[in-house]
Amino acid sequence: MTYISRKTQAVIDLTALQNNYQYISTLAPNSKTMAVIKANGYEHGAIEVAKALEEQVPCFAVAFVDEAIQLRKAGIKTPILVLEGPFQESDFAIAIQHDLSLMLHTAAQIAWLNNDKGTYRSDIWLKIDTGMNRLGFRVEDAPDVIALLTEEHRKKLIICSHFSCAEIKNNPKTAKQITQVKALVEQYACQYSMANSAGILNWPESHGHYNRLGLALYGVSPIEQCDLVEPLEPVMTLEAEIIAIRKVKAGETVGYGDTWQADRSSIIAVIAIGYADGYPRNAKSGTPVYVNGSIAYLVGRVSMDMITIDITDLPKVSVGDSVELWGKNISVDTVAKYSDSINYELLTRLSSRLPKTFI
Ligand code: PLP
Repeated sequence: MTYISRKTQAVIDLTALQNNYQYISTLAPNSKTMAVIKANGYEHGAIEVAKALEEQVPCFAVAFVDEAIQLRKAGIKTPILVLEGPFQESDFAIAIQHDLSLMLHTAAQIAWLNNDKGTYRSDIWLKIDTGMNRLGFRVEDAPDVIALLTEEHRKKLIICSHFSCAEIKNNPKTAKQITQVKALVEQYACQYSMANSAGILNWPESHGHYNRLGLALYGVSPIEQCDLVEPLEPVMTLEAEIIAIRKVKAGETVGYGDTWQADRSSIIAVIAIGYADGYPRNAKSGTPVYVNGSIAYLVGRVSMDMITIDITDLPKVSVGDSVELWGKNISVDTVAKYSDSINYELLTRLSSRLPKTFI
């Protein structure tokens, strides 16, 4: 067993994950809700997340073929949709070998499908670009692309699209994206999938045969200006322990660059987490943390392995106490706001040196 000397860790609450999935599925009762577990399950641990959800979900989604293979190797038998790859013809065969479903978005992928001699047996998830201008066939080209499919493939067509700003309620761009997808669905009498977390929560009219649930599954809000969506519960708690406590005099500074100066005699606690663990280097003085039932605030710059907080006004704090950096008391959105980032980025860039504990 690996020896772990620090108590710095991400605690992953798999019951909260299952409850979040259950709750969100009920918001879209006529859809199948797939769980998006790319980027190592938004860094919650894709394999553990998949194992916790495999009885509940109809399908998982990942970005690349490699991510899907990792899940298959861990024994996950649930259907897996690959949202971006394969990027080479050799990957196409490997994807079939692992029984993966593919979201097709390039002419080359359609050609590989048509050259295949019936070994690809999954649905035909066709990505149509309705305004993200990233991946997918343009709406006006959809008829030509669909015409390239065999009759057999056309019967299994699922039109897919991805929202660029569904987190903004009543945004006309999202309404237009929905209209475009629905027009194609009517024309080809096929299934469709477009809602991500924000689509599921904000845009019921976008609920398709399949919805693709990512961020909200982890109990984190995809909606602008909203820390939490009740009753979703944050799945990850990022915590670390206090390794030193020191006094500083009024006028003294703390940390690299002398960016924070005490305006009174202060007590500073040093916590064993830094940017090498994925805590954001940009987090500003004033970013809240949670310790022994109270809020304390970051002071000075985030170092590679440590941060410093002001505990002058806290009743009783000792070396060895645990500090929550984000989780059920401090939302990752709040930390993101203090570090000019977004919740998706903070979660997914946690580093590999940070252990995870699953409860
Ligand atoms: N669908 C696609 C194609 C995606 O790329 C993503 C994530 O970026 C999702 C669905 C899930 O989005 P969210 O995490 O906002 O629910």
